[in-house]
Amino acid sequence: MRDLSVRNQSEMKDSNIRQIIRTVLQQGPVSRSELCRLTGLTPPAVSGLTKILLEDGILTELGPVNGKREGAGRPPSLLKVAGKSHAAIGVEIGVSRLRMGTVNLLGKLLDTEVVEISSKTTVDDVIHRSVAFYRRQEAKLAAQGTRIVGIGVAVTGLVDTDSGISRFAPNLGWRNVNVKDLLVQQLGSPVIVDNNVRLMALGEEWFGRARNSGSIILVQVGYGVGCGIVLPKLGLLQGSFNGAGEFGHCTILPGGPMCSCGKRGCLEALISERAIVGTYLQRSLSAPNSALPVPPENLTVNIIVRLAADGDEVAQSVLREAAAFLGIGLANLVNIIQPTQIVFSGNAFALSPTTRGWIEESTYAHCFDQPKFKFSNATFRNYQGVVGAATAILEKELL
Ligand SMILES: [Zn+2]
Repeated sequence: MRDLSVRNQSEMKDSNIRQIIRTVLQQGPVSRSELCRLTGLTPPAVSGLTKILLEDGILTELGPVNGKREGAGRPPSLLKVAGKSHAAIGVEIGVSRLRMGTVNLLGKLLDTEVVEISSKTTVDDVIHRSVAFYRRQEAKLAAQGTRIVGIGVAVTGLVDTDSGISRFAPNLGWRNVNVKDLLVQQLGSPVIVDNNVRLMALGEEWFGRARNSGSIILVQVGYGVGCGIVLPKLGLLQGSFNGAGEFGHCTILPGGPMCSCGKRGCLEALISERAIVGTYLQRSLSAPNSALPVPPENLTVNIIVRLAADGDEVAQSVLREAAAFLGIGLANLVNIIQPTQIVFSGNAFALSPTTRGWIEESTYAHCFDQPKFKFSNATFRNYQGVVGAATAILEKELL
């Protein structure tokens, strides 16, 4: 009985400490009395716990700030998250690149490293590179008094987050790779492995421009199409079997083109990099007087978006169609989830002002309610997955 009560007390303390860090991170700088109001904790509890966090270097005191008086006394001293005490490593295993980065407690990307990979890159290569980056960063940051709390890994495809197994990553040719075990064996540190787009949404919610916005849908459009959903009070949606967010495999055009998943008419089969380039090539080559600006094998969606902006009618019609399909998918998500933000990440189809206007137009046209959400671009661009992966481990260990 006694052990249980001691454990409950320490769990409660741990949960209160996390609540204080979270609140200061999201609302800070704040005074101790504001912290009492925001967390519902008593003044002695806030005073005791903030003392521990100041000693640990997680919080820092700004000193009395004029103009922020509470009552008649002197201005209160404000607290904010220091950022320097802890950091985490984030790794994103992409289609052609392995991106690695160190992210501090304020969501700031410190060091980064990018390695080109291909279908020939083995699991061992990826693990070896990640471990080497971790060790180098660990040594460098230790000298500055910063402790690395663990490593998060963002992988495309189906990931069993509980076990840290990449169940199926078609672009890497991985099936049932226990990424978590391999890293834990070598590092002995906390490891989280999750789907890359889900993690991108998590990073945006904690540290991006869409932070504190309540509910966001982050949509990634590139070689694949996926989404990450963050909901108020629930956080990042994993799904009952870790498969939530497979937006790309929602049927948008029954009987449409064949998808990599074996079904027809999925959103991904209509708007992925390969789908848009394929449709453009097909139509452009059969159009009279067509002249491709680059050899067909070098054509990308980014080039097609530029052609559309320069007045290429085939490019415009292909992208308009793709935008119409994406808008239908987004409106379905909006009707079901009612987000406050839709955040885009990926190639120029999702990010350029021209195509974005068409995507927004189609989304509005298919929404049931008056649209109240905002559209925005993901904050960390090419490092969105890296920041998200590091955020997952910061959240698990400290937030
Ligand atoms: Zn599919």
